[in-house]
Amino acid sequence: MIRHFIDGEWVAEGETFPGYDPRTGAENARVHEAGPGVVDRAVTAARRALPGWAGLPVAERSAWLRRLADAMEERFEDLVDAEVADTGKPRAQARTLDIPRGAANFRTFADIAAQRPDNAYHLPGTLSYTVRRPLGVVAVVVPWNLPFLLTTWKVGAALVAGNAVVLKPSELTPGSAAVLADIAARAGLPSGVLNVVNGFGAGSAGEFLTTHPGVDGVTFTGESRTGSAIMRGVADRVKPVSFELGGKNAGLVFADADLDAAVAGAVRSVFTNGGQVCLCTERLYVQRPVFEEFAGRLAKRAAELAHDGDLMPMISAEHRDKVLSYYRLALSEGATVLAGGGVPSGRGKGYHVEPTVLTGLPHSSRVNREEMFGPVCHIAPFDTEAEAVSLANDSEYGLAATLWTRDLSRAHRVAGAIEAGLVWVNTWFLRDLRTPFGGLRLSGIGREGGVHSLDFYSEPTTVTISLEPASE
Ligand code: NAD
Repeated sequence: MIRHFIDGEWVAEGETFPGYDPRTGAENARVHEAGPGVVDRAVTAARRALPGWAGLPVAERSAWLRRLADAMEERFEDLVDAEVADTGKPRAQARTLDIPRGAANFRTFADIAAQRPDNAYHLPGTLSYTVRRPLGVVAVVVPWNLPFLLTTWKVGAALVAGNAVVLKPSELTPGSAAVLADIAARAGLPSGVLNVVNGFGAGSAGEFLTTHPGVDGVTFTGESRTGSAIMRGVADRVKPVSFELGGKNAGLVFADADLDAAVAGAVRSVFTNGGQVCLCTERLYVQRPVFEEFAGRLAKRAAELAHDGDLMPMISAEHRDKVLSYYRLALSEGATVLAGGGVPSGRGKGYHVEPTVLTGLPHSSRVNREEMFGPVCHIAPFDTEAEAVSLANDSEYGLAATLWTRDLSRAHRVAGAIEAGLVWVNTWFLRDLRTPFGGLRLSGIGREGGVHSLDFYSEPTTVTISLEPASE
């Protein structure tokens, strides 16, 4: 039974709802849903804890983050178990990416906060400097695709900046957040500094939390339309928001690319995590001289992945049906299916779909414009660099793009012309946690990462002093 964690105590209140194992479709958890009263208690506890936590020297908060990172490593297997049970992701991926990133996130923010210099500005006769204070009580609302990685990315930065946190994990993946709360409790983190409430979004814990008057700022990762709903909900109070939202990311493969590397990179960027990563490539554009070869090799790998014992399922039956509806839509719009397009055999009641490669649709088709969030891409040829850039930029989203080329000047030229928050050249998903992360347009508001996170989770006050001698 998954409970809320409020003021250092486990709280079993509210109706319960089921959790399912995406690999089998079998019920594997019961979770309490927080109503407005439970959310209010969590926010009140956070407000009470705030002055003590914010008043600690930053070095002490950094030391807390390092202690919690150590504890994450001690509880490594519990975190892997929770993440795999909720998401059905390959154990090997949870062990090498999702769970290690939790401790790495906490350590990165511990280091950056402790070493961050203050600012001072001199002019003749004046000295100005900034005092940074925490936002206050921060609501952290996260999705289901990379639960622990995304939770720790936000919670670590918010805590080290001196905020008290109320976390709302996705209703589909509450497990690793419960282990994180247990880690905090056992480590003796002061009560109320980190609280966890469970439930759904609209009309449930997510909405009660983000609209609560005691919450000073909202950091959210999820769908673009959910971002809009949260923004409307906090508009009256003009609360600061940081949004990491959806994507419709392009991959550009130039004829001069190392084709082996480009095929291997595209396989990763399309199919990792079942394509359920905001950074996944859903639109591939390949320069005409290598188009046939590239498409054939990608389709072959996609067909092989369908038989992989570790094929990651979709998170829920509902999400599987959404992805399959795009497969049907593509066919009805006249797509050629190079690989996949259906449900793999022999997976019982698991929520699997086939890794799929489509081609032949116009750029204006919904498959080329909407985020599908599954193991699927559409691949189309292009002739000139200018055409490739224009195709990549013609999107309502602007999160990430990937370029494959051996031409150094082209790499810099195209990267600078792409309208997205992140551009990878000859790689994908490689992250330096100090760099700004986020997207343009429907892909989000603001940037997190390194000092950019600390900027969001704090408010500067500028103090200006006259240096003129006092009149005698
Ligand atoms: P979602 O928007 O459905 O849900 C995310 C979270 O918001 C959940 O905890 C949910 O309960 C909560 N929520 C839903 N409605 C709410 C409301 N009205 N008020 C408050 N909270 C509410 O997203 P999802 O389906 O869980 O995740 C997939 C989406 O996340 C994709 O669009 C993906 O691109 C995006 N994503 C973006 C990034 C990024 O960094 N840009 C990273 C990962 C995922």
